[in-house]
Amino acid sequence: DIPMEKPHIAVVPSPGFTHLVPILEFSKRLLHLHPDFHVTCIIPSVGSPPPSSKSYLQTLPSTISSIFLPPVSLQALPDTTLLAVQIEDSVTLSLPYIRQELNSLCSTTRVVALVVDVFAHGALDFAKELNLLSYIYLPQSAMLLSLYSYSSKLDEILSSESRGPEESITLPGCVPILKRDLPLPFHSSIGYKQFLQRAKRVFVPDGIFVNSFLELESGAVRALQEQVKGKPLVCPVGPITQVGSIGHENGAECLAWLDKQEPKSVLYVSFGSGGTLPQDQLNELAFGLELSGQKFLWVVRAPNTLASAAYLRAAVEDPLQFLPHGFLERTKEQGLVLPSWAPQIQVLGHSSTGGFLSHCGWNSVLESLVHDVPVIAWPLFAEQSLNAALLVDGLSVALRPKINQNGLAEREEIAKVIRGLMEGKESIQIRKRMEHLKNAAANAIKEDGSSTKTLSEVAAILRGSLVYHDMKS
Ligand code: UDP
Repeated sequence: DIPMEKPHIAVVPSPGFTHLVPILEFSKRLLHLHPDFHVTCIIPSVGSPPPSSKSYLQTLPSTISSIFLPPVSLQALPDTTLLAVQIEDSVTLSLPYIRQELNSLCSTTRVVALVVDVFAHGALDFAKELNLLSYIYLPQSAMLLSLYSYSSKLDEILSSESRGPEESITLPGCVPILKRDLPLPFHSSIGYKQFLQRAKRVFVPDGIFVNSFLELESGAVRALQEQVKGKPLVCPVGPITQVGSIGHENGAECLAWLDKQEPKSVLYVSFGSGGTLPQDQLNELAFGLELSGQKFLWVVRAPNTLASAAYLRAAVEDPLQFLPHGFLERTKEQGLVLPSWAPQIQVLGHSSTGGFLSHCGWNSVLESLVHDVPVIAWPLFAEQSLNAALLVDGLSVALRPKINQNGLAEREEIAKVIRGLMEGKESIQIRKRMEHLKNAAANAIKEDGSSTKTLSEVAAILRGSLVYHDMKS
């Protein structure tokens, strides 16, 4: 039931909840500016899409249609522990189907532009063939885009000298980061090679949408805009966070529990849509929460030594069986433990939530800013260490626990950091800075805000291209 007569934007996400939802939330914003347009989302997936993605897709307005491509099986992907490689390769396997759907869409409707998730950059070639405007949607920070843009220079620097993991690197306009905090693909040869190749492709389209805003990352955005000199357009259009909620079985229980707590007294603990901890770290975190004496709401997943294990494939075991013996009984007054999933947007927006122990996935970062909740930064994989550096060192709105020589955050350290965030002297300043960022975030997406203006400029380009297309046909 795709309306044939309406001008169209084709959108290609990549597999995984957080490479699907953000690009669709972005589509909703664009449609708000262009109510007469229609978006068709062509969805590649690995296996069957997770329940969270399915529930989300049911909430879409009628101005967005979805086409599901035949799923790629996990077994068809290279045997690597790197999520980025798996996601990107799964899109590569889906390219013939993407092309087929795009061709058929273009022959029946007035498509003006193609917007693809960063891992679906392979589809950009089709935009050229079909004479469409092309955009990449990066559901991440401007700092990550800076890393893409600076990567070949950084590669030269890193291969001509030996820099230890504790030495720092400064990307143009960004807060310095330690070499060990470079995104996970930098620490594997296949991942690094693919990162460098992707970096070249990122700067091919007409524009790059980045889910950030000028006031949050002004240094990085300005440096990027200077460097690309107009093409591709670097367009900060955020913060784009999920609006509205998707129903979930844990939802009602957890919100009812929050209703009973004191204002800003609860620490919410979650590692994103698929982050996991190894068993020994899960134990330390459990004891650390208990020792801290603070109220907590913890989304627990079954442990795994691979941090991104549950991103493309949810674990089936009951995660609560992996908690230390007696933990649930001892903490039944102190905390609530939820298996695998929580309605995060509502939790962060709840007046009882006062802190967020987060893996610093970019969506979680933006959601914490929008809802004014200070953070304990616990990065696990992907570019999460960059995000943690931005929050801790750049913006001073987060604390980060120290890791021992075995790579573990120990219970005493965890408890200390939790108390520091929830009630320490530093927390007053952190809360003030967070409130300031919350206001800046709200301003950026107001009617005359920086991100709204940027998006309106792109909307005008799309409208202009439509006139051109219609004249030709
Ligand atoms: N999320 C949620 N409930 C959960 C875990 C995650 O609603 O229990 C949502 C969260 O609100 C965010 C997204 O899933 O929008 C996670 O995105 P993020 O970029 O933080 O991490 P990723 O899943 O990509 O590692």
